[in-house]
Amino acid sequence: MRRVALLGSTGSIGTTTLGVLSRHRDAFEVTALVAGSNAAMLREQVAAWRPAYSALVRGDTDCGFPTGAETLVEAATRPDVDIVVNAVVGAAGLDATLAALGAGKRVALANKETLVTAGALVAAAARAGGGELVPIDSEHSAVLQCTCSQGAKACRLILTASGGPFRTWDRERVRAATVAEALNHPTWNMGAKITVDSATLANKALEVIEAHFLFDLPYDAVDVVVHPQSIVHAFVEFPDGSVLAQVGYPSMEVPILYALTHPARRADTGVPRYDPVTGGDLTFEPLRRDDFPTFDIGVGAGRQGGTAPAAFNAANEVAVAAFLAGRIPFGRIPEVIEHALDHHDGSAADSLDAVRSADRAARCHADEAMT
Ligand code: NDP
Ligand code: MG
Repeated sequence: MRRVALLGSTGSIGTTTLGVLSRHRDAFEVTALVAGSNAAMLREQVAAWRPAYSALVRGDTDCGFPTGAETLVEAATRPDVDIVVNAVVGAAGLDATLAALGAGKRVALANKETLVTAGALVAAAARAGGGELVPIDSEHSAVLQCTCSQGAKACRLILTASGGPFRTWDRERVRAATVAEALNHPTWNMGAKITVDSATLANKALEVIEAHFLFDLPYDAVDVVVHPQSIVHAFVEFPDGSVLAQVGYPSMEVPILYALTHPARRADTGVPRYDPVTGGDLTFEPLRRDDFPTFDIGVGAGRQGGTAPAAFNAANEVAVAAFLAGRIPFGRIPEVIEHALDHHDGSAADSLDAVRSADRAARCHADEAMT
């Protein structure tokens, strides 16, 4: 039995993970569940799974659960936990990832903001504590699945992007998009923040940075192609020119299960089987970088390195929250991020303090751009 702590249990990845775990109760047990603020859903999950530990990060004092950000770390480092599934959204998931890796756990990571904010620190925590990082993000799971049994290192990755709900819209229409339009993703059903990130293509920039850190490749070796059907999750090129791809209908259940079992696989009856004849055409097109400027802003921050990716991520979190709250139009999101990055005084991302202070400053500068 592998014992799982699930952080962010009430979200899209959290509930999908519980669905996967319920089909594999013979192999996994849930020992900890931590949610953000949804007390009612957490109570139902606790009744169904009876974990040894449960907590609500943003709960009231009378919610009946331990509360506070430190509960994430508490759950992630428990001795009765082997695998930490980090499905928290945003930089709030960073401490738990670092602590779990430091405590020698496997971290099945959906929380890509963790790697973008502090990729080098995460790698160092894994080395120091003997922990292991396995991506849940579908593109990165695809890359891992294509690379893990190879005798040579990959030389180029091509991550696929659905293109989001505005793939075919002209620039002016995109700039004026409403919240409801941005939340209407064509192929994936996800939490609000990542859905908006998919519409701006910030998500793909975060994923390029995530791939850079996970697979130790330079930015020039990480490309992106738009693939509206979301069936090919990534291509991986090897030095001899051979290219492997991982394919399947868009469902997070496969990458979640794989992150739990890697490098082994378990039979899963809950996932529809891919049929190339009925599965529809597979098409590919270039990213419209000029019309979706957040992508280049994000990858530029990645290339700049140091604390710039942390600043990009923090400013993006603030801008997306403001868009979702109706405070700024869709077209302002890249402008707010750019303002924060213009005011970012880059430093090395070699300590948690440096990363946190870049994160805090970028949040202030993003706020300032909106007042
Ligand atoms: P959701 O918004 O659906 O869920 C987020 C989860 O995080 C919820 O359980 C929420 O709790 C919790 N949470 C929010 N803020 C905090 C906080 N400050 N401290 C602790 N917990 C918090 O997001 P998704 O499940 O869609 O995404 C989760 C992560 O996975 C993101 O990093 C995303 O980029 C990544 N990801 C998601 C994919 C998807 O298909 N959804 C695909 C690939 C990556 P509550 O609701 O109780 O407040
Ligand atoms: Mg992805």
